[in-house]
Amino acid sequence: MNKPGFSTAILHSDRQQPDQYRAIHRPMHPSVAYAYSDPEDLIKVFQGSQSGYVYGRQGNPTTSALETKINLMEQGIATACFSTGMAALAASFLALLRAGDHLVASSFLFGNTNSLFTTLSTLGIEISFVDATDSANVTAEIRDNTRMVFVETIANPRTQIADLAGIGEVCAERGIVYVVDNTLTSPYLFRPALVKAGLVINSLTKYICGHGNALGGSVTDTGLFDWQRFPHIYDNYRSADPKLWGITQIRKKGLRDMGATLQAESAHRIATGSETLALRMDKTCANASRLAQFFADHSAISRVYYPGLSEHPQHLRAKTLFKAYGGLIGIELREDINKLAFLKKLNIVISSSHLGDTRTLAIPAADTIYWEMGADRRRSMGISDSLIRLSVGIEDTDDLIGDFEQALS
Ligand SMILES: *Cc1c(COP(=O)(O)O)cnc(C)c1O
Repeated sequence: MNKPGFSTAILHSDRQQPDQYRAIHRPMHPSVAYAYSDPEDLIKVFQGSQSGYVYGRQGNPTTSALETKINLMEQGIATACFSTGMAALAASFLALLRAGDHLVASSFLFGNTNSLFTTLSTLGIEISFVDATDSANVTAEIRDNTRMVFVETIANPRTQIADLAGIGEVCAERGIVYVVDNTLTSPYLFRPALVKAGLVINSLTKYICGHGNALGGSVTDTGLFDWQRFPHIYDNYRSADPKLWGITQIRKKGLRDMGATLQAESAHRIATGSETLALRMDKTCANASRLAQFFADHSAISRVYYPGLSEHPQHLRAKTLFKAYGGLIGIELREDINKLAFLKKLNIVISSSHLGDTRTLAIPAADTIYWEMGADRRRSMGISDSLIRLSVGIEDTDDLIGDFEQALS
């Protein structure tokens, strides 16, 4: 049999571990505890010489089935799921970094990740923010104690695209862990392993779940980073295969010690949503491309930020690396148009903070999701007061165009 395609692999991954009743959809396992008729087996599971479940905080069969799906999508060697995307990020940083370490991050970041870096800096982890659209800026900041470089694929809300391949080369050369947040592209549009990322983060809450009805996050180890070169692996985790040292430490610290566990109910919803990721992404990207062109041609719009437009500064990079250009669009209205009045006039498009939903959502970025960071940091990220972020959904294209048309007229 040929290697199955993206959707076939996800749809049929459940059959790797058949259900006892032959159900073709995985059942949900909310049980916290697991019984062992032979206590020897319980001991073996605890000591890691046998696989199994012991207590819900460390995982359950429903989450494992989702981890298999995400791992297939990213073609990694192992994936761990967490309660949210932020939990996956926090677990990765806190499990791997220590006081005295240095991290280089893109300055174009999801707002809460930016805030998390502020917390890390109070713990003695030094952070340098750089314009990551050029890998030379990353190289210039690398020091002896630089342990990690962190970027997002398409930055929120201005849609800058990091020099993903160039930074991958730099990290590979220097033996630095390269962490890529793939949320905005999703593994359907882009696989960070192709640019040598060692760890890939996904907020499952967004495109992978896709229906706005569950929170979740994941960390995938691509197998490309040599953990034997990493100084902060605890002795306890060095007995296993060195390829698994990193993800084992993230899993143990993030789930067992910090308790950022994904609930079985959420894992079940995310797994169901993930089955249609390719279909939804195709429609979302097609809608977004049509809308971006519509905005670019409209006299009431002064600026459009969308990687699919040929005038976008990283258009060629996006074209080379991504299957399509994603569902996020930034627009700035002509100065004489009131942005709130415009948002109020929209009937189909909803004012909301989420992204990656089936519905099209709009939010004034500076007043809301990027409010807390202050005007200076907003300016450095290119977020103007008039910027509206759109997360394009899967509605019928003409209905979306019509809605924007009437709101702008
Ligand atoms: C939403 C988001 C996160 C955080 O995910 P949650 O599941 O909401 O915690 C992280 N990174 C990016 C790029 C996001 O858009």
